[in-house]
Amino acid sequence: MADNIQYSAWRVHEEDGRFKGAIETCRTGDLPDHEVLIKVSHSSLNYKDALSASGNRGVTRSFPHTPGIDAAGEVVEDSTGKLAAGQQVIVTGYDLGMNTPGGFGEYIRVPAGWCIPMPEGWDAYQSMIYGTAGLTAGLCVEKLLRMGAEPDQGRVVVTGASGAVGSVAVDLLSGLGFEVVAISGKREQDAQLKALGAVEIRDRDALAEEPKPMLRPDYAGAVDTVGGSVLAELLKRVKPGGSVSCCGLVAGTDVQTTVLPFILRGINLLGVDSVEIPVADKKAIWQKLSGPWACPRTEADARVIGKSDLDDALSAFLKGESRGKIVLDHSL
Ligand code: NDP
Repeated sequence: MADNIQYSAWRVHEEDGRFKGAIETCRTGDLPDHEVLIKVSHSSLNYKDALSASGNRGVTRSFPHTPGIDAAGEVVEDSTGKLAAGQQVIVTGYDLGMNTPGGFGEYIRVPAGWCIPMPEGWDAYQSMIYGTAGLTAGLCVEKLLRMGAEPDQGRVVVTGASGAVGSVAVDLLSGLGFEVVAISGKREQDAQLKALGAVEIRDRDALAEEPKPMLRPDYAGAVDTVGGSVLAELLKRVKPGGSVSCCGLVAGTDVQTTVLPFILRGINLLGVDSVEIPVADKKAIWQKLSGPWACPRTEADARVIGKSDLDDALSAFLKGESRGKIVLDHSL
């Protein structure tokens, strides 16, 4: 067992109820006793990482802790024999970065069942441009398509459009031929959202709370990454038979709605989880993202940071100020 490798990780400590991250030297021998040791070259930043790093107990119970719900890199050893040393793999979700040390460290040790062989033609950097956010956007779109969504049914909406999940959803849907309306609170991102393929950008106020239970049905479908009152308002505006994929909670977990859009317009609310689903379902989306669903505009727009930039980048998520995809490169 490779127990004595020293490596660098961005670890969060709790001190007098405050949470602070710092780059530290760790030992692989202190990682959990799982089957596969991976040398992580890249990770990807997500809202959940910001929650973990700021001490949200619903995400991470105890500290010190290394966040990072995404990781990609090279297998060092696998006690099950299923993965060869040197093989490139992706790990996202399950408990990674929550209560299992995550991708903000240069090594992780995880169950073999969490590892996905790198799709053909991809490297760790490319996979982490997408990360959990890209996987989630892919799952949201997959659910809409399974419900019969087609471009000629009308415009579709993406909320939280400048965020990590939202920006990939805009790019992916527009690449599939949908006319995408991007809802964003950051008007300074209009040009960027247009460059990702949005045909129209609307301010968050376009989904401000209104007392009526149903409104003019403007949208054939939606990917909602924010939840709360935004999702409630969206449901009032979906065309008959349309569907909304729901994956996020930044605007709140409570959704006040009536049954009317469901029973009078037959709309569908589709829940999306990218964390605990079977690994085969994750693999299927990775295959698409690395092939027919590739998002070159997202790839070109991605920013790369080093561990010393994590503090600022994670704070931006909590303030709703982060935008697009951010990759952590451990070599920087
Ligand atoms: P980001 O912070 O990158 O994106 C969220 C975006 O939502 C922001 O950039 C902002 O976009 C908008 N926003 C922020 N605050 C508010 C608010 N109060 N009201 C309305 N809109 C707001 O986060 P991610 O893209 O990483 O994650 C988005 C959500 O999806 C999170 O809740 C996350 O937990 C969830 N998620 C769920 C997954 C699952 O498996 N179900 C997997 C991955 C993420 P703008 O300024 O453009 O409006």
